[in-house]
Amino acid sequence: MSQGIENKVVVITGASSGLGEATARHLAERGATVIIGARRLDRIEALAAEMNAQGYKVVAVQTDVTDRDQVKNLVDITVKQFGRIDVMLNNAGLMPLAPLERLKVDEWDRMIDVNIKGVLYGIAAALPHMKAQKSGHIINVSSVYGHVVDPGATVYCATKHAVRALSEGLRKEVKPYNIRTTIISPGAVNTELLEHISEKDIQAGTMEFVSKIAIGPGTFARSVAFAISEPDDVDINEILFRPTAQP
Ligand code: NDP
Repeated sequence: MSQGIENKVVVITGASSGLGEATARHLAERGATVIIGARRLDRIEALAAEMNAQGYKVVAVQTDVTDRDQVKNLVDITVKQFGRIDVMLNNAGLMPLAPLERLKVDEWDRMIDVNIKGVLYGIAAALPHMKAQKSGHIINVSSVYGHVVDPGATVYCATKHAVRALSEGLRKEVKPYNIRTTIISPGAVNTELLEHISEKDIQAGTMEFVSKIAIGPGTFARSVAFAISEPDDVDINEILFRPTAQP
C-alpha cells in the first residue's frame, strides 16, 4: 500500500447516505476506487452511475451488514475485481434513541446487529485478504457517544463503546500483518441518522437540539482521507471531532 489516496481500493459500508456517501464522493474524486455497500440498491447504483459518468471509479454492491455472507461477498467481489483491498470503512450504523424503560428491545437488537456485529463482519471479511497482502487499513466508525453516555442513548452508546474496544484490540492484534486501524468518532453531523428514531417525542427533541449545532459531513470525509493518506509507517489510531457548539 502506498502513501496517498490515488489508486487505493476502498470498501465503504452504509454508503447510501450521510457520512458514507460523502466519503465515497470525496475519495473517488481524489482517485480512489470505491466499492460502496448498503441495503438501498437504488441509492448506491445512482451514486455509482453519477460518479462513473464523471470519470471516477465507483462500484455498487447491495449489502446488508447484518448478513455475514453479504459482507464477505462485498469484500470478495472487490478483491476479485481489483486484486486487493486497501481500506475497509465499517461505517453502517443506526441510532434509534429511546430510554431503556420504553423497552424498545427490537431496536436494541438492531443496534447490536448493525453497529457491533456489522463491524465485526466487516473485519472478518477484510482480515484474511489484508493478512495475505501484508497490508491494509480498517477504519471503524464510533462516535462521541463511544466516549460518553447520556440518558436515552444507553444502548447506542454501548454499541459505540464496543466499537472502540474491539478496534483497540484489533489494532494490537494485527501488528504482525502491517495492517493499520483507525477509529473515527464524530459528534453531531447532519445526515439521515435521526430519521430512524421511532419515538416521536425523542426524535423531535433530538432534531431540535441537533439542528442548532450539527455540521456537514465534510469533516468526516476529510478525516478518512487524512488517515488513509498518511505514510505507511504512520497509524492514525483515533480521530474525535465535534461541532464547536456541541457540549
Ligand atoms: P445515515 O442514516 O445517513 O446513514 C446510515 C447508513 O447506514 C446508510 O447508508 C444505511 O444504508 C446504512 N445501514 C443501516 N443499516 C444497514 C444495514 N443493515 N446494512 C447495511 N447498511 C446499513 O447516518 P450517518 O451517515 O450519520 O451514519 C453513519 C455512521 O456514523 C453510523 O455508524 C453512525 O452511528 C455514525 N455516527 C453518526 C453521527 C452523526 O451525527 N450523523 C455521529 C457519530 C457517529 P441503507 O439503509 O441503504 O442500508
